[in-house]
Amino acid sequence: MYLKKVEIRGFKSFADKIEVDFKEGITAIVGPNGSGKSNIADAIRWALGEQSIKTLRGSKMEDVIFSGTDNRKPLGYAEVNIIFDNKDEFIPIDYQEVAITRRVFRSGESEYYLNKNPCRLKDIKELFMDTGVGKDGYSIIGQGKVDEILSTKPEDRRIIFEEAAGIVKYKSKKEEAKKK
Ligand code: ATP
Ligand code: MG
Repeated sequence: MYLKKVEIRGFKSFADKIEVDFKEGITAIVGPNGSGKSNIADAIRWALGEQSIKTLRGSKMEDVIFSGTDNRKPLGYAEVNIIFDNKDEFIPIDYQEVAITRRVFRSGESEYYLNKNPCRLKDIKELFMDTGVGKDGYSIIGQGKVDEILSTKPEDRRIIFEEAAGIVKYKSKKEEAKKK
């Protein structure tokens, strides 16, 4: 499984639709300061359900929508579509390609889609649980995360290992069962 493509429209600095193709292996994104490199990482995190506006470097959720420039009007919504190659079926679903879409309008609520079908954020979270993908998965290591891994409390570090070991879904089911 690997991230194959990211399509962004109306998210942060990307007013027009852009498509970024990734190959298996290492991809580096280079560009001048302020050109939108971090915005691409934000877009991926956001599509995977990031709710923390601080993590997304804004002050309110609306800040992810293109806010306009001197010669361009603000847009009404932001949409990010991320596509995984799943030929190895690492993501536990019977599709060779898995596309996650998130859309948000200025009015608020986010819409999520799994392979173009409307779904809940919960469905996306469950699908990616224990795969290392997901907004808190170890596959997205943001600035600061390295320090966090090296220096945080053992209990916090344990969470990273639990995800890698693939036991988060069992722990989550146990917690849900306890609530019932
Ligand atoms: P650096 O090399 O400094 O880390 P970068 O390439 O990572 O730069 P980003 O942080 O991705 O740059 O992009 C910052 C740019 O995105 C800023 O110019 C900012 O104005 C723009 N931006 C952020 N949010 C929006 C928005 N909602 N609408 C329009 N532009 C936005
Ligand atoms: Mg940056």
